[in-house]
Amino acid sequence: MSQKVRHVLGISGGKDSAALAIYMKDNYPELDIEYYTADTGEELQETYDLVTRLEVYLGKPIIRLTHSKDTENHQLGPFELLYKSKFKYLPSTQSRWCTQYLKLRPFEMFIGNDPVVSYVGIRGDEEREGYISKKSNIQSIFPFRKNIWSEDVTTKVLANDNIKQLLGTIEAGEVTVDDEFREIIAEPLSLRFSAKKKLDLLLNADTKAFNQLVFSYLKTTRYPLSQVDSFPVVADTKVSVKEDIFALLRTSGVGIPKYYEELEFEVDGEKGTYSRSRSGCYFCFFQQKIEWVWLYEQHPELFEKAGKYEKEGYTWSERESLTELMKPERIEQIKREYIQKQKKRVEQSANSSPFLMDKFLDEDDQQGCAACFI
Ligand code: SF4
Repeated sequence: MSQKVRHVLGISGGKDSAALAIYMKDNYPELDIEYYTADTGEELQETYDLVTRLEVYLGKPIIRLTHSKDTENHQLGPFELLYKSKFKYLPSTQSRWCTQYLKLRPFEMFIGNDPVVSYVGIRGDEEREGYISKKSNIQSIFPFRKNIWSEDVTTKVLANDNIKQLLGTIEAGEVTVDDEFREIIAEPLSLRFSAKKKLDLLLNADTKAFNQLVFSYLKTTRYPLSQVDSFPVVADTKVSVKEDIFALLRTSGVGIPKYYEELEFEVDGEKGTYSRSRSGCYFCFFQQKIEWVWLYEQHPELFEKAGKYEKEGYTWSERESLTELMKPERIEQIKREYIQKQKKRVEQSANSSPFLMDKFLDEDDQQGCAACFI
C-alpha cells in the first residue's frame, strides 16, 4: 500500500519562501501543505515578526524545527548550545556546520522516511538549483520557475533511452502535443543537442504538455509524485520574478521583511543607502561588510553579541575582527566604498530594471545558502 505523500514548504524568513507560501495558499488550497521554519535561535526579530504575520495569512501554524533544546537550564539557544557543547569554533564558508546541524538535519528528521514533495522558492529570474536533499524520499518542486522540476528529474526524463517511453505516452493519448513538440522529444541528445537545449525547447513549445509528460513518466519511478493521482502544479505556467515576489508580499498584507528596507547614510557629504540583503542569522558569515555596518548601527546589541563569539584567529567577517570593523574610520571607508559600488551598479543596470531595490539586491541574492536565505 502506498504511503501518504506529504507536502512541505520551508520558511527561511527571506522574501522568496514567504512569497511562495502565499502563492501556494492562494493557488493550490487543495494541497495540504505543512509549513516549517528551522530556527537557529539567532535570527533577527524582523524574521520572527515575518513568520508570525505569515501564520496569520496562512491560517495555520508554521512548525518550528530546532536541532536541540537546552533541557538543562533553558538559557542557550540552538546555535549557542551546539557551539558550546560540540564545535567550539565559528562556522564559516569552509565549515558550514550551522546549516548542516541547524537547518538541514532538523528538516530531514521532520520528514523522516515519508515520501515528501518540498516546494522551493527559487524564482524564475534566478539561475540556481537550491538545496536538493540527497534523500530519495524528498522531491523538490520549484513553482516560481518555468521548469518546476529538479535537475535530477529532467536529466532522467530526457535521457536518450527514455525517448521510446515518452513517445509511447504521447501515442497512447495520455498527453496531447503538436508535431513540433513530438519532433523535439524524438530528437536524441548529442554533442550539438544538449539536454539544456532540449529542455528549453520543450518548455517553450508547451510547458503544460511537458509537465504532464514528466508527471506521467514519474509514475514509472519511485519519486514521491509517483504516488499521487493528480498534481495541480503541472498546469502552472506562470513564471514569477522578483517584482512578482514583492507584489505578492505587499498585496497579501504580509509585507516585506523590514530588514530589506533601504536606509540612508551619509559620508563626506555623499549619500548612500544600506539594508540587509537576506534572512538568516544576524552574525551570518555570508554577509557583506556594509551589512555588518548596518548591524552595528541598526542593531548594536546584536553586533556586540556577535563580537563576543570571536576569538583569536576566529572572526565572522573575512580578514578582520568586528572590533576592527567598528572603528569609525573603518566604517567610513566601508560606506565610501559601498557608495561607489552602488553608483556603478545603478549605471550598469539602468536599463535592465525599473525597480531601485533590484539594483541593490541582485548581486547578493545569488550568494550563500539556499536553506537559509530563499
Ligand atoms: S544564516 Fe548563515 S550562520 Fe545562520 S545557519 Fe545559515 S549559513 Fe549558518
